[in-house]
Amino acid sequence: MKIETIICDCCGEEIPKVKKKDIFGIEREYYRLGKLNYGYPFNDINCRTLGLHLCDRCAGNISLEMYKTRVELCGGLTE
Ligand SMILES: [Zn+2]
Repeated sequence: MKIETIICDCCGEEIPKVKKKDIFGIEREYYRLGKLNYGYPFNDINCRTLGLHLCDRCAGNISLEMYKTRVELCGGLTE
């Protein structure tokens, strides 16, 4: 089986792979894709469902930006 490499859509770096045992005790390789967190109820969004491949770091940065925008928007509404 060919080992596929996934590149981060944001920074262009390779997504690291991790080996984890699944519930049956079989070792499998997983991609350590970042998850987006826009705050409730949009926390823990899997990038893959959006067709995005993001590394942990970029997902973290994007989440932070989204969070800031959200806070600014909310702040603007209450003032
Ligand atoms: Zn990245």
